[in-house]
Amino acid sequence: MKNDLHTQAKDFIARRRVEGLTLEDERWLGAHLAECECCAAEHRQLNESLSAMRAMHLDLPPNLASRAQFRVRMRAEELREKEPTRKFVWAIAAVSWALGVATAPWVWHGVEWVGQATGAPRILLQAGFVMWWSVPPLIAAWAALSDKRVAQPEQPE
Ligand SMILES: [Zn+2]
Repeated sequence: MKNDLHTQAKDFIARRRVEGLTLEDERWLGAHLAECECCAAEHRQLNESLSAMRAMHLDLPPNLASRAQFRVRMRAEELREKEPTRKFVWAIAAVSWALGVATAPWVWHGVEWVGQATGAPRILLQAGFVMWWSVPPLIAAWAALSDKRVAQPEQPE
């Protein structure tokens, strides 16, 4: 009989969250929890895990997201302040050159094909090949430098 009371209490604790209890059942559960440490502990535990879950769902993600955003912004500003534009230009040039070297064999094949198709002098083809290889980083560097020139008037001199 005593066991049935605890089973009934646990059933009420679970049902209370889902569908709610009648006023009478609520009162009965309150009385049981007041005198039964075992069921009261279970009730507390359920409440704690539920509020922990709620806290995780509602509070943690926005907090984490804004913190991550803040850090990214800080890092971006740090980079903008500390790293000279020249370094940035060199990075762009290095990437362009690396891409140029990586794709050079295919491009050279293309240039040779154009040479065979058009009968253009080899020196012209070679010049075109060199141009293709060196112009992109020059354009990138020029773009980065002119970007800096535009951004500079904002800073006090
Ligand atoms: Zn109990």
